[in-house]
Amino acid sequence: MSTPLPMAETEACDAPVLKERGQHEVFCGLTGILWLHRKMQDAFFLIVGSRTCAHLMQSAAGVMIFAQPRFGTAVIEEKDLAGMADMNAELDRVVGRLLARRPELKTIFLVGSCPSEVIKLDLNRASERLTGLHGPDIRFAHYSGSGIETTFTQGEDACLNSLVPSMPEKEDDTPDLLVVGTLAEVVEQQMLRIFDQIGLGPVRFLPGKSSRELPPVGEGTRILMAQPWVDETVRSLQSRGAELIPAAFPYGAEGTEAWIRAAARRWGIDDAKVDAAVAGPKARAHTAMARHREQLEGKSVFLFPDSQGELPMARFLSRELGMRLIEVGTPHLDRAHMQAELDLLGPDVKLSEGQDVDRQLDRCRAERPDLTVCGMGLANPLEAEGLRTKWSIELVFTPVQGFEQAGDLAELFNRPLDRQRRLRFG
Ligand code: SF4
Repeated sequence: MSTPLPMAETEACDAPVLKERGQHEVFCGLTGILWLHRKMQDAFFLIVGSRTCAHLMQSAAGVMIFAQPRFGTAVIEEKDLAGMADMNAELDRVVGRLLARRPELKTIFLVGSCPSEVIKLDLNRASERLTGLHGPDIRFAHYSGSGIETTFTQGEDACLNSLVPSMPEKEDDTPDLLVVGTLAEVVEQQMLRIFDQIGLGPVRFLPGKSSRELPPVGEGTRILMAQPWVDETVRSLQSRGAELIPAAFPYGAEGTEAWIRAAARRWGIDDAKVDAAVAGPKARAHTAMARHREQLEGKSVFLFPDSQGELPMARFLSRELGMRLIEVGTPHLDRAHMQAELDLLGPDVKLSEGQDVDRQLDRCRAERPDLTVCGMGLANPLEAEGLRTKWSIELVFTPVQGFEQAGDLAELFNRPLDRQRRLRFG
């Protein structure tokens, strides 16, 4: 028997959205390099930035030790900012040295920053010049990770979007599935197993392990978004003929099932086949979540806008863990990509888009939620005031998508409250 989609149980969301335009508190798009470089193992991310950018990356990546690091910074010195030295010559020198040491690299991303924007360094021309210097075996791509233009997850979108023009044209219009947004290897394998079981394929991923062998795109390409922040990349793929399959995001058992079913329906695959493939993983997910649901049910949660993953997270917290949503903030609400999540959240949820950090902090303090999901900069002051917090960046770094990760995702939210319980009774 087929399981009805949870969407059938909800009303369309027409909740008013509080629009905020004030000071905001988020990381810049450089941070995305931390998960992108793990995935694309033949790529190097060269930040064209200042010592501040280098320090940010070092401290954010502090716990990771690499024999062969895959990101670095070409430092713009003060004299370059004053226009007295040629930053392009410095860039050529750094790239030359890097390629002499690392001939196996296939793509170098030149990543723009606030300083490179301030001096109006043209990274497009720099990539063309470097391609001329180093030949066709290495691809130069470029995007901006600057804090002026991007927040931390938008860095991934900008990076993937920079690859779209290099994706080969699809040779025929037979359907294939393109999953867009970085997924951990283990998650990819689990998804592939299920798609294989239901007879859906071929399935390709953007990004894949290789930055060089990019998937083809064209008529017949059907997209599932794996991450909520890849808006621009999806739009570029659509402009090359790809079709987006609207779906909830694969967070938690419910989201993962809805995500798989959306693709299966587009392929015309029988519901019973999907039921059979997801039954085992779904049951394991529910068992893994149960312990955390016991602890979290009825507790209140306030989500600050940070990663753009807030809506699917809020849906997971309320519908699968029974938490009470006080406010769900998102840096940017793209209704075209979020409709399935909005439908699941229902009309009563209090949504805010953008940020005016002081006003939002006031609302959060007034409510004193059991848990606050926010950026690292806000977490410490709120903890000092006795509120329990979860850094949203952890939810981006950790593999959380799919059935087998649903328990881990629930645990991430339960951990701060669990610590509090143990301190109280310890
Ligand atoms: S890109 Fe801008 S915001 Fe990001 S670390 Fe560099 S200076 Fe700071």
